[in-house]
Amino acid sequence: MEAKQLQTLKQNNTLLCQFIVKLSAFYEGFSDKIDTELKVLRGHLSGTPNFSLATVSIEKLNKSLQHQEITLRKYSVDTVSSLEDAMKQLQKIVFEDSELKGLTTQELIKLNQPIGDIFSIYKLYAKAIALHRIALNKEMVGLSPIDSGENSHSGKDDTKAHAPQDENPHYRSILVELNHLITSYAQKKPDDHQLTDIKQRLDEGMDKEQLLKSCVVILRMIVQDAMSEASLTGKVIQSLHRSLSEVSNDVSNTIENSKSQFEQRQVGNEQLKRHISHIEEAMSESESFEALKEQTQFCVEKLVTALSEQQDSDEQGQEAIMALLSSMQSRIDTLQQQTSVYKKKLAEQAMQSRTDPLTRLPNRQAYNERLETAYTRFKSNGHSLAVAVVDIDHFKSINDRFGHATGDKTLQVVSKFLKQSLSENDFVARWGGEEFVMLLPDAEMADIDKKLNEVRTKLAAMPFKFKQEKVKITASFGATCFGQDDTTESVFERADEYLYKAKRSGRNLVVTDLSTDV
Ligand code: GH3
Ligand code: MG
Ligand code: MG
Repeated sequence: MEAKQLQTLKQNNTLLCQFIVKLSAFYEGFSDKIDTELKVLRGHLSGTPNFSLATVSIEKLNKSLQHQEITLRKYSVDTVSSLEDAMKQLQKIVFEDSELKGLTTQELIKLNQPIGDIFSIYKLYAKAIALHRIALNKEMVGLSPIDSGENSHSGKDDTKAHAPQDENPHYRSILVELNHLITSYAQKKPDDHQLTDIKQRLDEGMDKEQLLKSCVVILRMIVQDAMSEASLTGKVIQSLHRSLSEVSNDVSNTIENSKSQFEQRQVGNEQLKRHISHIEEAMSESESFEALKEQTQFCVEKLVTALSEQQDSDEQGQEAIMALLSSMQSRIDTLQQQTSVYKKKLAEQAMQSRTDPLTRLPNRQAYNERLETAYTRFKSNGHSLAVAVVDIDHFKSINDRFGHATGDKTLQVVSKFLKQSLSENDFVARWGGEEFVMLLPDAEMADIDKKLNEVRTKLAAMPFKFKQEKVKITASFGATCFGQDDTTESVFERADEYLYKAKRSGRNLVVTDLSTDV
């Protein structure tokens, strides 16, 4: 019995030793120190195991491993945070490339979730490197030295001046931003030749230096405008203030006048009273009719004089008050005119700041405000509310093939079409670039899906013709309904995700909560 037990124990020991040997070989590569000690341990456990030496080795290893575990954890945290930095940097560079932007966002989301094992970090690393490689390839295309800015410096060959830098995302985004600014300024100052000139040159293409100079010109105009706007506001307030203080003076004058008129009237009344009591006295004291007649006549004459004086003074007082009142009225009229002009100007400004200058659609700020109201309504009454994002397909190629001005025109036509396609309760805004966002309240997703598909097919069927070439413009859509746990951000992210699904599945598509095949 004892021999058998001993036999089993020996077998188990051998098994365990073999396992430890294999395990230690697998973990080789962490650090030189641990590797050396693992090798020693393997020596002690191979062949005929020497457990007392192995125990010494295991103790040493225990200490090193404990230290190594802490280092490894810190290393993992550091790696994740440097990966995160790298992805954020990448996101900044590729912000114009919707697909890459979407992919980097997904990676960033993954990096923010708990990471279970070291292999997950490897995977994230591999993905980050792949994304950087894609970005680098795209960037290299954009900066290709075949026709770098310097070579095409003649400036007159405008199509060429436009092409090479066109691919650089920073250059592109500054061009787009400048174009926006100019469009909004051109509306304010249609006759400004400097603006027209910059706009024309923008459409033709600019090199970096020209672009910078134009930015400076526009900035100067903005600052000047802001300053004159401020001084205008100051002037309006000053004149309002002046008018108000004049009205206030008028009011106190009127009160003063009324007071003194009241006092005068009281004095007059006292006099009248006195004249009447004189008559009464005369009547009771008179001895003869003649004397009575004489005295009464005298008193009545005085009474008439007093009454006519009082009447005169009343009339004068009233005239003075009327004059004051009418001057006050005219001042109040001026004041009202001034305030209504100012109010109109403020309303115009508020409207401008919520309108996209190129397309005249509401802008992102207007969308955010509308969304807040719609969301509060959804939370309080539970009526359905959907968000849809729309992105024109391959829009960049319109700019590249037919020029930026044609791109702008296309954006205006598509914007108008989108607005007309929606019902009165719906809302569409330009989110930025060639992207739009819609708020669709009180409708089931099935109806929204149908409606957006109608919009999509109608747009695709619209006859665009640029430079004698028929061009088909299509767009991709992503739409989703608010759920009870949704926030305004989570809904937008979901709609955006659907949009990317639509793009990945071939474009000219609507993807909604109901889509299962993409
Ligand atoms: P996708 O189908 O993946 O959406 O491809 P895309 O070409 O539409 O998308 P991408 O994001 O690569 O390019 C969008 C382009 O839209 C790049 C930018 O120059 C252009 N763009 C953005 N805003 C304006 C604008 O106001 N006017 C003009 N003309 N172009 C603009
Ligand atoms: Mg886009
Ligand atoms: Mg697009």
